[in-house]
Amino acid sequence: MRADLLIYNIGQLATLAGPPGPRRGAAMRELGLITDAALAVADDRIIAVGKSDALAATIQPTATLNAGGCAVIPGFVDPHTHLPWVGHRAAEFEMRIGGATYMQIMAAGGGIARTVADTRAASLATLVVETRGRLDRMLAHGTTTAEAKTGYGLNLSDELKQLDAIAELRRAHPVDLVPTFLAAHAVPPEYQGRTEAYVDLIVEELLPAAWAHWQRIGSSSLRPWSQISRATGEVQPAGAIGQDVREADRRAWNAIFCDVFCEAGAFDLAQARRILTAARQLGFGLKIHVDEFASLGGALLAIELAAISADHIVTTPAEHVTRLARSNTIGVALPGTPFGLGQRDYSPARSLIDQGGALALATDLNPGTCWCENMQFILALACRTMRLLPAEALTAATLNAACAIGLGEQIGSLEVGKLADLLLLDADDYRMLAYRFGTNLVRTVVKRGKVMSAA
Ligand SMILES: [Zn+2]
Repeated sequence: MRADLLIYNIGQLATLAGPPGPRRGAAMRELGLITDAALAVADDRIIAVGKSDALAATIQPTATLNAGGCAVIPGFVDPHTHLPWVGHRAAEFEMRIGGATYMQIMAAGGGIARTVADTRAASLATLVVETRGRLDRMLAHGTTTAEAKTGYGLNLSDELKQLDAIAELRRAHPVDLVPTFLAAHAVPPEYQGRTEAYVDLIVEELLPAAWAHWQRIGSSSLRPWSQISRATGEVQPAGAIGQDVREADRRAWNAIFCDVFCEAGAFDLAQARRILTAARQLGFGLKIHVDEFASLGGALLAIELAAISADHIVTTPAEHVTRLARSNTIGVALPGTPFGLGQRDYSPARSLIDQGGALALATDLNPGTCWCENMQFILALACRTMRLLPAEALTAATLNAACAIGLGEQIGSLEVGKLADLLLLDADDYRMLAYRFGTNLVRTVVKRGKVMSAA
């Protein structure tokens, strides 16, 4: 069998191979490890995975990569980021660490309003340049696919500008991006005290406009992949995956989600339900920020609306955790955020997994509470603060994270037919990732079958 690339002499390969869908409960510890492994790639796809000797005998590769006995894992998927913004809030961080209250920070021009003002004032070109730098660092630390939320525009033109930036970057940057429309991130300054009027604006104008805009720019910003003809855009016949699955591929890559910050001081449960119900009718997938500081019952709303994920889940009552564990909604823990805020309360992720739930991990990358571009650090935090085992954390940051953005069939594990998104570690054991922290243990990133960086 011909291959473009054969990666061989892999000391420990974490395939995460298994049945479709997210890993739940104890199955999150099953990594499908293969020792003395090899992996073959054609175009952007994995075409063979197995023992090094067996693959060497059957594969004729154009190029080879000697892994030198290191561990290889799937590329990280970061399913919750607020990626496109302009500026920073370093002064606000200093005030907070110095003991300033939220109100004092707001009075000094800090908080989300500051980032909204900076992002509104910036051109699309500036927004793209600042965001590209973050994507470069994410890729260097092993993130090969990320979700990216709007929510620093909070009006029609600036929310669409953020979508434009996401589209431009997914055309131009190796990291694959999945957009989420988060006009319901905060009430903008011009609507202070008139939250209900802003919800009207979201439901009546912003959501339909964002949906229509993404239908125009979304598919044209998709980089081609092996099952799509570069000439015609039509689905190509044959290959390892069936026709229907490939059509599903195209739908999955072109999805857009809608999210609401359901929290005291932002949007209440009724407002969140109204926005998300309208979004679902238009065709958006659903995500919700719930229970970061106070529980309004958002986790139950996520289950009720069959949202793909419920994110943060820090102050979630035990009974709601049990309901979440029994649902198809994936809980997304963001331990970088309480860490970033210097707080002590983390998500009850251990309880969610022990009750058979599906957990994913994400950075929550944003300029206010968690400017972290490194999923390796999130794994290290998750193991220490939420008592995840390293294998559970790895599953949460790869396969389950892919499922949390609707891409569980395309990425997140190293199986035949999936995209060849993988990481060669500077270590011979995947557990080094959670055990060691603060340095980059990713030696080489392979994205869509292309070697991005090498030692
Ligand atoms: Zn967030």
